[in-house]
This record gives sequence, structure tokens and C-alpha cells, in this order.
Amino acid sequence: MKVLTNPALCVGADLPAWLAAGGGTGLSHALAEPDAIIPLLEAAGLRGLGGAGFPTHRKWASVAAQPGPERWIICNGNEDEPGTFKDRFLLAEAPHQVIEGALIAAVAVKAAQVVLYVNPREDTAVRACRAAVDAWMAHPLAEAVSAAIGARLALRVMESSGLYIGGEETGAVSSVMGGFPFPRLKPPFPVEHGVGDAPTLINNVETLAQATHILWHGAEWYRALGLGDAVGTKLYSLSGDVLRPGLHELPMGTPLRELVFGQGGGMLAGKAFKAVFTGGPSNTLLTAADLDVPLDFENVRARGSRLGTGAMIVVGEGTSILRKTAEYVAFFAASSCGQCPSCKIGTHQVSRILERLESGAGRVDDLTALENLARMLPGSGRCGLVDGAATVLASSLATFRQEYEAALPSD
Ligand code: SF4
Repeated sequence: MKVLTNPALCVGADLPAWLAAGGGTGLSHALAEPDAIIPLLEAAGLRGLGGAGFPTHRKWASVAAQPGPERWIICNGNEDEPGTFKDRFLLAEAPHQVIEGALIAAVAVKAAQVVLYVNPREDTAVRACRAAVDAWMAHPLAEAVSAAIGARLALRVMESSGLYIGGEETGAVSSVMGGFPFPRLKPPFPVEHGVGDAPTLINNVETLAQATHILWHGAEWYRALGLGDAVGTKLYSLSGDVLRPGLHELPMGTPLRELVFGQGGGMLAGKAFKAVFTGGPSNTLLTAADLDVPLDFENVRARGSRLGTGAMIVVGEGTSILRKTAEYVAFFAASSCGQCPSCKIGTHQVSRILERLESGAGRVDDLTALENLARMLPGSGRCGLVDGAATVLASSLATFRQEYEAALPSD
């Protein structure tokens, strides 16, 4: 069942069309019974869909429990990781699903400051969000939200830096405050000390859109969308060596095989399935042995990987894993903000070695150096960037070692 990508609900910035299709029902339910919002999310089992998979109700409850009069919400649409393109679709084609979820969150945690934080490279999404926000602010529902919060709602669009680190929670906070999006050490977490030191709820836009539907249709309806023990649906950004790349919404718990060979139409002609860079290229690769793994948080983690953003970059025989790994590590190296020496130097060092191997100029001790770096780098930075680079390196090195060995000098 298509929920977020239901064409009837993807009406762009047209607020009357969204309301005519049933939009606004979830927010009305929230306004009628604000104290029931967070328990409903808990009953639905909603988890963060931007990568972490943290239980959404716990985050919202943490912000709601903080003292002080001011609270912020950041709808995180920075989306910058290679292979990920789900958020730009939601923000451009279905911004009301996201905004309504943000307003439901505002009522739940009593936050008057709501920021749609959008990657500026996605100019269609930025335009759609600006028009959608204007429409909401002129609608009586915005007044009702202000009344429920007890303060004047300030809902606005802000262009992010467009940098990868700007999507990290503390980087987003810094960016919204007008600074460079340097990630900082946690704790304290933004739920306690965020924008201007005020409690700040940061959710990915897909998570907020799902919250809209939970408040609209209920927890049981949402849980029943998933397969097995999984709940809800998930957006997958499918790319690589498949016949039908693109955005696919599937029940949570759908096997990887169905995504690649069903929705994705199977492999490009002449290319047998080899692996998937899973959840964005910062996780452990899934291979042919994992094709029947149900795509949900627990089952993917049981395979040593993570669902992450839902980006699935499929690689077929004939496509070099070493080349792809070099490409992704180069992205991480270029995205490093340089605060942590291990990340600044380590990611560039890995990138240089991979490029050397890939160009045929590898040295005999390159594999040992890569293994050492893959062991030393994780956990050495303030944010997850360096961990992502190390994980994709370690995974590809362990699983496709023959490609690395083939790139070494023969004598
Ligand atoms: Fe910056 Fe890298 Fe440190 Fe993250 S790990 S804060 S990107 S230097």
C-alpha cells in the first residue's frame, strides 16, 4: 500500500487539494487530544526513518518534558548522502504531509518555532515548501495550533548549508543558529540543549510524514501496514545496476529480493547480483546471501548492517566494489569538517590508498594500512561521518578482498 507516495496525496503545495483528500484530519485529532499524541506514536511503533531508527515517541517525550518556555522543531530535509533521494521527493511533491506532521509535533511538545530545514540544491523542494508554508500560515488551523501551544506559531523554511554534516543533529542546530554546521560532542543532546540552548526536536521529514498518517488513521492501521513484526512502510531510494531505479515505498519487512527483483525489475542485462550498499554507503554491505533478509531495523541489524536512510545502491557483477568504495570514501573525506584529526587525516588517507589501488598503482602494504585504518577510525570523531567511512571500507574489504588483492602489484 502506498501511503506517503499515494498519488492522491502528492499534491505539491496545493493546500486545498491536500485538505480535500483528507489532509488535516491527523492535526485535528491532535488538537482535540494533545496528550494522546505521544502514546499513539508509541502504540504505532514509529521509529526515526532518517537513519538512526530511534523510537520517535521517546524523542518527542524528552522534548515535551524539558523545562522552559521555548522549544524548537527542525524538520531535517538536508539529505546529502550519495544514493539518497527520498526526502526531496516528499518535500517537493508532498510537503503538506511533512508540514502537518511537524505541526502535530509542535502541539505534542509545545514548540512554537518550527523550521523546515531543506537542502538548497533541491530548489523544487524549497519552492514547494515555501508555498506550502505560506498556505498553512494563512489557514485557520495555524491559529488553532498557536492556541494549543500557547504561543504564536512561527513556521518557516530555511535553506541548509547543503553540506553532509549539516544533516547531523548538532550540525543542524548550529546551522539554524546561523553558524557553520560543525557537529559537536553529545551529550548534551539537542532534545535538552538545541537552538539557542532551547530543547529542540529534530526529525527526518519521512518520520514526520508518517506521524501525520498515524494521527489520521490510528496506530493499528499503521502497524498492519508492515510485514511480520515490522510496522508501517518505508521509502527506498533504489539505484545502481537495476532495471527500474527510483523511489519505491514498500511495507516495512519486505525482503531485499522483492525490492531488487520485484520493484526494481531485476538486474541490468548481463549483470548478476553482487551486493548492495545499504542504507546509504556508510553501512555494511548486504550480499547475495542476504537477499531474503526482511528489510526492517532488527533483521538488517542482525545481518550486521543498518537500514539507514533506505538508500539501496545495487551492484552487479562487472561493477567494481573497490571503485564504488573509493568513490564513497572520497565523498566522506571531502565532507569532513576537519574538527577531529582522525577524521580529517584518516578519511583522506583511506581515500588516497583506495584511489591508488584503483588506478593500478597499489603498494604491497596497502591492504595492511587499510585494515589498520578500518580498525582505528571508528568512534574517533565527534559525529558519525568517520564511522561511516570506516564501516564501508571494512565491509567491502572483508567481503570482496579478492578485488583489493587483484589491485596489488604482482611481484
Ligand atoms: Fe567533523 Fe569528521 Fe569530526 Fe564529524 S568526525 S565532527 S565530520 S571531523
